[in-house]
Amino acid sequence: MGHPRVDAVAGEARAAIGRAASSADLEAVRVRYLGRQGTLTQILRTLGTLPAAERPAVGAAANEVKRELETLLERRLREVQAAERRRERAAARPDLTLPGRRPPRGAVHPLTRVSDEIAAIFGGLGFSVAEGPEIETDWYNFEALNIPPDHPARDMQDTFYLPGSLLLRTHTSPVQVRVMQTQRPPVRIIVPGRVYRRDIVDMTHSPIFHQVEGLAVDRDVSMADLKGTLELFARQMFGARSRIRFRPSFFPFTEPSAEVDVVCFRCGGDGCRVCKQSGWLEILGSGMVHPTVLRNVGYDPEEVTGWAFGMGIERIAMLRYGIDDIRLFFENDVRFLRQLA
Ligand SMILES: [Zn+2]
Repeated sequence: MGHPRVDAVAGEARAAIGRAASSADLEAVRVRYLGRQGTLTQILRTLGTLPAAERPAVGAAANEVKRELETLLERRLREVQAAERRRERAAARPDLTLPGRRPPRGAVHPLTRVSDEIAAIFGGLGFSVAEGPEIETDWYNFEALNIPPDHPARDMQDTFYLPGSLLLRTHTSPVQVRVMQTQRPPVRIIVPGRVYRRDIVDMTHSPIFHQVEGLAVDRDVSMADLKGTLELFARQMFGARSRIRFRPSFFPFTEPSAEVDVVCFRCGGDGCRVCKQSGWLEILGSGMVHPTVLRNVGYDPEEVTGWAFGMGIERIAMLRYGIDDIRLFFENDVRFLRQLA
């Protein structure tokens, strides 16, 4: 018991619902047929204008179609929404076929690497690593090392003093004293660490820098042992053909004292810009531990002897990597660090 007009609207609406591909499409269909101004709503609203005989049939048909369309809309809406959720999930899922993004990989700082390398070389020779405080007393930093208050050697090192007669250590040597105080000979240690001096920052100076100190104390330890050990070190650090030479020098805590040069590894001794045409590179200071230092830690200089050396890690790293500005090590410019990684 249809009605041609109602049937026409119903057919049109069913087709539109079938075509709707989104919840927005369906809402538009609902408004077009069932909304306040909708086609079917208009038919129901204008029943009064129809001849009385037609009204019941048209009214019944229109109401039936209205219920049918509401049911169809609801069903289709559920389908469309399910499809929409599936599409959203698919869009959110990572595309496993895309190439991966590598997280940037860090590297050990060049100063740490050189320091570790030196420690490993001496580790192979039976030395163990010792460490000590960066804030020191005057006694450990100076007096125990044969540098009394009026000693001119104190002028060689400009010191950062702290309240309470403390200071920032100017070298790693106080660690030697601390180790010898607590350990009977034989002693074989290397001491890597940060040290402080009141230097103005320029291409070759920094108020903070790093040293590695070496100390060997035992019966019958001689200058020849020192030279042999440093030759081994130079060959491992700078290449198998490395040679070293000793030049007499002065340090308050060693007697005799020597500066040690290594043959320039750039030019092999012919002379170049790196070695300032001399063929040699100064790499460290060394000497036989002064008897006063041994006595200060409770050792008997008649019984044991020792040697010590100290080198700047920045200097070794600058020579090794051909860097002429010490500031680069402290600026943390990632491009510089990456270049040496
Ligand atoms: Zn050279």
